[in-house]
Amino acid sequence: MSRQIRKTSNELLLTSERIGLGIAQRNLRIYSSSISALERSIGKLLGEYEVDGGIAPSILRSTLSNNEQRELETYLLSRVSGFGLKPDMERIRGHVAQLTRLDAIREQAYIEAMRIAPSSADLVESGLSTIARNTYNSKAQVIADVGNITGTFTRLDTQGVKVVLSTQWEGGNFSTRIWKNTDKLSSQLSEILGEQIITGQPLDTTVRNIRERYDVSRYEAMRLVRTETNYIHNQADLAVKKDFGITRYQFDAVMDGKTSDECNKLHGQVFLVKDAVVGINYPCMHPNCRSTTFDLLDGEEEYIRERPVLQEKIYDSQQMREDFQNGSDIEPINRLSEQLSLFT
Ligand SMILES: [Zn+2]
Repeated sequence: MSRQIRKTSNELLLTSERIGLGIAQRNLRIYSSSISALERSIGKLLGEYEVDGGIAPSILRSTLSNNEQRELETYLLSRVSGFGLKPDMERIRGHVAQLTRLDAIREQAYIEAMRIAPSSADLVESGLSTIARNTYNSKAQVIADVGNITGTFTRLDTQGVKVVLSTQWEGGNFSTRIWKNTDKLSSQLSEILGEQIITGQPLDTTVRNIRERYDVSRYEAMRLVRTETNYIHNQADLAVKKDFGITRYQFDAVMDGKTSDECNKLHGQVFLVKDAVVGINYPCMHPNCRSTTFDLLDGEEEYIRERPVLQEKIYDSQQMREDFQNGSDIEPINRLSEQLSLFT
């Protein structure tokens, strides 16, 4: 009886991960489009002023030429509309007239970074909704068929999806984390385009630093989607457990060379559904977690399976980096710096 539930649980996790990977890849394109736009802006606004491998501070600190003002106005107009706001041409003009070249490029960097968040949040929300709905509905079907149990609900409706998606863990949800991520990106771009560029460093060094900073954000975005995928998958699963009166579950880690130490320890342990706490005894346990749980029906024995010996216990940053490169069909990430050691 439980064999089929276990099999379904594993298959459903894989399905969710596949959907998650699709979202993650589409999400990276949003970042790519943002950085391309910023690079274009930098080239357009500063390229012609570069002399002897740098830009004179006086150029950076002077106001824009008429031509540059018109171009920036057009840019702002399109971005403001893109944010769904009504552009006020008068105000844009007045604002642009006061900007120095440095202000102008910093403002464009800010806008390019911040415009990632709404599109990214929409994309991730729609993917996670699919994951929640699919996991709940398929799991509910199996529990009803195999366990011959009738649940309070049989399908997750729009309201139910909303409830699953809005649950908070670690002080936020996917949306707040996406905004935090782009917020961080925008403030660091501002530093690169402030302190660094004013020292007269070559423009291509500035552009390289910007790309590196974007790479860090892209990596974080990838990890965020993977982690949220696991979280939402398991939350939808938890909702089925509760709606169908399942009282116990068994922790199940994907056992391979990448299994984290904490999931390895929890693997096979049985807990009460009412005691389930994310990050303590219920997945996800950590960023990039791939664990799930099996339902144990009344009177059912727990599933004993030999604990494999792991040669390498943790999924280290080098491995993550390689996976990221292999898993992404967007463009190779060559410049992930040592900052990635943060991600272990
Ligand atoms: Zn894990």
